[in-house]
Amino acid sequence: MSAPAPDLQNLYRQIVLDHSRHPRNQRRMEPHDREAEGHNPLCGDKIRVYAQVRDGDLTDIAFEASGCAICVASASLMTEATKGRAGADVRALAGEFERAMTSGAEDLSGDLAALAGVSQYPSRIRCATLPWKTLLAALDASPGTVTTEKMDPSR
Ligand code: ZN
Repeated sequence: MSAPAPDLQNLYRQIVLDHSRHPRNQRRMEPHDREAEGHNPLCGDKIRVYAQVRDGDLTDIAFEASGCAICVASASLMTEATKGRAGADVRALAGEFERAMTSGAEDLSGDLAALAGVSQYPSRIRCATLPWKTLLAALDASPGTVTTEKMDPSR
């Protein structure tokens, strides 16, 4: 993937800044069908994702986060990209996002493309993927907390 032109990079930076400063759908959702918690210990990001699911569709999504700008912006962009979508579409999008972050091999569409540059900064990739991992755990109704790190079996 070639680097975007400077004016596009500037636009992407503005989108990420805007979503980190004014996150969309950042609220506690009550009542909700699903929720999951995620934690990225390397950065200190913590997130809780709420979801309403009807007939397999993600009809509403919200989150609460205390995290870095990348984590909050990624969560905010994720809610806009997934709200109202079918569960299968959400999972496919989560896979695309993960591949875009970890390999840079996938092109992201819409405002999500603004986060593509994160793939250049390995230490921040987990900040961007944490909201998506947490959303998938909520959809799967997985118990426990999602962590970006392997759990220490001695603990
Ligand atoms: Zn972070």
